[in-house]
Amino acid sequence: SMSSRAGKACLVTGGGGFLGRHIAEALVAAGHSVRIFDRVQTFTDSRIDFATGDLTKKSDVIHACEGMDVVFHVASLTDTWGPYAPFYNVNVIGTQNIIEACIKNGIKQLVYTSSPSVVFGGEDIENGDESLAYPATHLNAYCSTKAEAEKLVRAANGKDGLLTVSLRPHAMFGPRDNHFFPQLFEKAKKGQVKYMVGSAQNIVDFTYVGNVVQAHLLAMDKLVEGSPVCGQAYFITNGEPIKF
Ligand code: NAD
Repeated sequence: SMSSRAGKACLVTGGGGFLGRHIAEALVAAGHSVRIFDRVQTFTDSRIDFATGDLTKKSDVIHACEGMDVVFHVASLTDTWGPYAPFYNVNVIGTQNIIEACIKNGIKQLVYTSSPSVVFGGEDIENGDESLAYPATHLNAYCSTKAEAEKLVRAANGKDGLLTVSLRPHAMFGPRDNHFFPQLFEKAKKGQVKYMVGSAQNIVDFTYVGNVVQAHLLAMDKLVEGSPVCGQAYFITNGEPIKF
């Protein structure tokens, strides 16, 4: 039968990056049509349409959203450190631009890639769940601007028929990861990871990128009028955290 899954027009912001490209490829494999929005085109794929532009430029974002049914807002300034202004511009203003463009284009579904760092105020979190409140202050500009963006996305749920959901994957690994793990392994090879953080009994939740992709596709399927996921934010994990 014709299901709501068949053949949607999907925009993936940040589709040139680690997670975004995996989401774009999974959407194509599931029979959807895909446009990637990113600053530069980093790869070519005949099945994927590329729109280059900057999230901070409203006209770029509005143009990229034209004709779309669903927006996966994955793009973000993902550096750990740095001055506040670029984080604010890309993560907060950029997300505001996406929300406005969705409403302007009559788009009904917005899936936002958030982060568990939105609820991290510096204290360890063990067995945390979605009832955790946002802390008064965050560790850095990345965390605070991801939190601000998530609040905008949640507040936009229901506006002019737009439905939104936020996903918070923790520390991803998998093919084409160019961030955390390759850098860690590189340092380890050079003997540069001889420091210890805390008690060395720390538990960290790492998430396989494929699970995060699946969460995004499920979020699209579940994001329908009257569904309890609308306006919510969910942690995405593998299940059991890796103890080391
Ligand atoms: P990434 O850096 O590989 O990809 C981000 C993409 O966004 C890049 O391709 C970049 O060019 C694009 N981008 C940045 N600024 C832009 C702008 N102004 N206009 C247009 N595009 C812009 O990051 P990733 O690891 O794939 O992360 C994707 C999402 O997942 C982010 O929202 C991040 O906050 C979230 N996240 C990642 C992790 C992780 O472990 N990698 C953990 C939690 C949350």
